[in-house]
Amino acid sequence: MQLWRFLTPNALGFTLKNAAHALIDKITGAPPRVTLAAEYVARHARAGDPESLLRTLDRFALEERWLMSVGPEKGPLVSELAERLPNEVRVLELGAYCGYSSILIAHTLGQGATVVSIEVDAAAVASARRNVAMAGLSRRVSFLHGPSSELIPGLDGQFDLVFLDHWKDLYKKDLQLIEEHRLLKPGGIVVADNVGAIFNPDEYLEYVRGCGRYQSEHRLATIEYTSVPDAVEISVYRP
Ligand code: CA
Repeated sequence: MQLWRFLTPNALGFTLKNAAHALIDKITGAPPRVTLAAEYVARHARAGDPESLLRTLDRFALEERWLMSVGPEKGPLVSELAERLPNEVRVLELGAYCGYSSILIAHTLGQGATVVSIEVDAAAVASARRNVAMAGLSRRVSFLHGPSSELIPGLDGQFDLVFLDHWKDLYKKDLQLIEEHRLLKPGGIVVADNVGAIFNPDEYLEYVRGCGRYQSEHRLATIEYTSVPDAVEISVYRP
C-alpha cells in the first residue's frame, strides 16, 4: 500500500497521530497493539457479553490506539446481511486481527452461525482467540494461523459469506483461490472491507464487477474510527 495516499488533507491528522503512537510503542518496547487491545478488554469488558467486548474495543481504538478492525459503523451492514443469509450460515473471514469482526459477525448472525477466520500474524491470532473466548463465542469461531494463500486450499465444505479484511493486494488473488476450490456457495456473498480510493482497490473492483460471476454493489463508508472516506464492496456470487 502506498503511504503517500494517506497524506491527503482529510487523512493527515489520522496518519500523523497513528505514526506517533507507533513510534512511541517502538521506543518504549510496548507489546503489539493487538496484545494491548486484548489486555485492555480483559480489564474493562464484561465476560460473556459480545456487545460489551465490541464497545470496549471501540473505546480502546478511540482513546488508546487506532485499530484496523471493522469498527462500529459496519454493525448495521452485518445486520442487513443477516436478513439475506440462511440461519445456518458458514462464514469465512480473511484477516482476524483482534477478533472484532468475528465477534460482530458471530453475534449478529445468531446461534446458527459459525466463523472460520484466517490470520497470518501470531500476536493477532492470540489476541483474537482471547477476545472471542471472553465474549463466550469460542464454540462458533475458530482461527487458523498462517498465510491465507496456503490455508484456503485446505478448507472443507462451502461458505455462505466471505469477509475480506486482510492485505488489500491479496483480495483478488484469494477470492480467485476461493472460487477455484469451490468454497463459495452459489448465491453466497463476498464483503470486501476498505475498498475506498485511498486503498487503491481498482484491481479487485474491476475483477468482481467485470468477471461476470458477481452482482456487485459499492457502499460508501469511512475508515474505521475516522472521517476519512472509504467504501465496502458487497458481491453476490452468481456462477
Ligand atoms: Ca478493515
